[in-house]
Amino acid sequence: MVTAPLCKICSAETVRHLYRSQRYGFQVGRCTGCGSTFVLDKINESELKDMYSDDSSFERFSNMMDNEKVSKRHLDALHLLKQLLPSGTISPRIFDVGAGSGYFLNQAREFGFEVYGSELSDAAICSAHRRYNITLSPLPLEQELRTDFFDVVTMWGLIEHVLDPLSIIKQAFRLLRCGGFLYIYTPVWCFYDDIGLGLAQYCGWTRLLDRRITLAHLQLFSTEAMRKTLAAIGFELCRMEVVCEYNLPVTAYLESLGVPARVRNGLATALDQLIDRGLFFRNNMRVFCRKPLA
Ligand SMILES: [Zn+2]
Repeated sequence: MVTAPLCKICSAETVRHLYRSQRYGFQVGRCTGCGSTFVLDKINESELKDMYSDDSSFERFSNMMDNEKVSKRHLDALHLLKQLLPSGTISPRIFDVGAGSGYFLNQAREFGFEVYGSELSDAAICSAHRRYNITLSPLPLEQELRTDFFDVVTMWGLIEHVLDPLSIIKQAFRLLRCGGFLYIYTPVWCFYDDIGLGLAQYCGWTRLLDRRITLAHLQLFSTEAMRKTLAAIGFELCRMEVVCEYNLPVTAYLESLGVPARVRNGLATALDQLIDRGLFFRNNMRVFCRKPLA
């Protein structure tokens, strides 16, 4: 057990050390209070920004994320958000935090939303403008001045990346009008990670977990931590699901794990079939919550 750092999600004072990444050297622990898992090493804002400043890897990542499965996931969320919003809401305003290349916002615009968003990466801001004519703000969320303005705030694969996830969720609360919705999509610790942890602790092989917790994926919320966090900030939870959804092509995952090319395609086809039927590990959570009516 170590007594520092404090959990940045629930402020508990004890964190259990889990493993050290063999490849990258950082330490990973789990909060004994809320069950969230996170990188214990301190990372600062400029180191984080550096991670997202590589234009070529950003373009490669964006191209992989522009796929049919991700597109359907976005449309399902937009359908549900439209159902949740009061009938007669014309051109609801949506703000996507960490909007990447603007793929989701472009779909939201086609769906009738008035779109806004922010992004840390300069490459992403340029890409969103070039691909979709969407202008993203480079400012941190606390500098967004439109309080009580938006009908929906979305965070797709965001809160696992940020230094201060609580602050981001609090800012979303401020930006939303009363009755507005926050949507969060983020990885959650699953049985796949338990297998990875077993391998890390008993063999020192951390490559499975290095795909899930990295110096970019700084924390994985537990569902309990998510519920408590949202309630403490003042949100009403509408729906929380833990789902079997893999955003990048399975072949890319396998390649990153060092699976040889000669078996990669066959294995990817088999895994894709399991994933499509929801029979693989439930690795992500999606959460709809509402800022209460005044
Ligand atoms: Zn905690």
